[in-house]
Amino acid sequence: MIEFSGSESEHELIVRLSQLAICDPLTGLHNRGTLKELFARILEQATIDRQTVGILYIDLDDFRAVNKLHGQAVGDVIISRIANRLRSISSDTDTIVRTGGDEFLLISPSDKPDCEFSAKAHHIVDTLREPHVLENGKTIRVTACVGTALFPIHGADHEELIAAAELALHHAKKIGDEVMAFSPEMLNTEHRRLIFEHDVSLSLERGELSLAFQPQAEASTSAISGFEALARWQHPDFGPVSPADFIPAAEASGAIGAIGAYVLREACREASSWKNGLRIAVNVSPVQIERGDFVQVVRNALIETGLAPERLEIEVTESLFIQNLAYASKVLTGVKDLGVSVALDDFGTGYSSLGTLRAFPFDRIKIDRSFVFDMVRNSNAAAIVDSVLGLGRAMGLTVVAEGVETEEQLKLLRTLGCQQIQGYLIGKPMPAGHYAAVTGKVSNHTSPVMV
Ligand code: C2E
Ligand code: CA
Ligand code: CA
Repeated sequence: MIEFSGSESEHELIVRLSQLAICDPLTGLHNRGTLKELFARILEQATIDRQTVGILYIDLDDFRAVNKLHGQAVGDVIISRIANRLRSISSDTDTIVRTGGDEFLLISPSDKPDCEFSAKAHHIVDTLREPHVLENGKTIRVTACVGTALFPIHGADHEELIAAAELALHHAKKIGDEVMAFSPEMLNTEHRRLIFEHDVSLSLERGELSLAFQPQAEASTSAISGFEALARWQHPDFGPVSPADFIPAAEASGAIGAIGAYVLREACREASSWKNGLRIAVNVSPVQIERGDFVQVVRNALIETGLAPERLEIEVTESLFIQNLAYASKVLTGVKDLGVSVALDDFGTGYSSLGTLRAFPFDRIKIDRSFVFDMVRNSNAAAIVDSVLGLGRAMGLTVVAEGVETEEQLKLLRTLGCQQIQGYLIGKPMPAGHYAAVTGKVSNHTSPVMV
């Protein structure tokens, strides 16, 4: 809001207006609109002076939550304080830009050719982490991540340099680091990720998706008690892509809805053709559950394929409960009301495994394969497996040990009283036909008979 104060001359007003155009009114820092000219000037001077320029991309973690919890006015106070802190630790030759609501750039020329700016980035992170005490005595703590890139080696202009620093920032966030320097390999990974995100939406119509089935067995007898469906993607250029890579791509691109529905339907269709009535487990991503139509999608898959609900189990991970516990529990209750069971996958790898168990009445828990892998040699891992089994007994839940590869592991699991197992020892994920002898698969006669 620009106010004309009586004592201000027209000239002063024009100066103030032009400053506002290049400045962010809240912080007085440069704004996004000035980036091009600002960079052009700084990079030109650095080239003449043979300097390196560090581009530090600073992003506050989950700042939306501050606005949500404390209100926009408090958010503004914190942002302007953060700007002041950035000013206080920058040198005379540094330039600070507020590029977005909670994003800043610090552009820092240096005479040292091998200057890495990581010490500076850590200093920023440490300074911003200091708590903010508000006028009402409340304390707010805001944390930040920094991605860094260098001129001239990582880019020639503002667009390339900012993109490099931003990419480094995303990598930092992804692996939970506070500071990360750009490296060219990030481009390859990023490039692949973007290709996957684009192509995964086409995978269904191109017929590149399929399902593999992995058996689960009773630990005491090794008799097969059910199967888990695992999605497979055959990419035309990259070959087989792991679900660990393409499920996140499908989540990011929005294709997870259609892909998840396909997996559910195909898994149910396959299981409905089995004579022996074994159970089928299907992995479900938190994004599918958050979409709002999940119970309907499950119901449709059951109706369309005629599979009895008791034969279907969905597997969810603890990450589902981090965002919105109440909503997740509501959707899963809807699923259980259909007669479908719910398993907690990768148990032990999340932040609050015990809390999750309390949040919802699961039917089964699957101990993550990392514990099973370590169990024989590492007494801590064995102790964890033992206590999860105790927990399962106390809560009346079946416990499945994942990733069982050796007889030694199976023996130990039997000794500890584990009920069910899954892993290469029993069988690898394979196309359904591989297990036809076990499932008693009935041919559905849909393909024309050649004579
Ligand atoms: P998960 O649900 O924990 O699935 C088990 C993973 O462990 C599978 O990897 C399987 O191939 C692998 N595995 C099974 N037995 C053994 C073993 O004895 N040793 C070792 N080392 N590994 C074993 P996969 O198929 O690559 O799947 C990876 C993850 O992708 C799955 O982990 C699951 O979280 C996700 N996923 C797979 N299919 C789907 C799907 O249709 N939808 C969703 N949302 N996620 C899926
Ligand atoms: Ca699973
Ligand atoms: Ca698992």
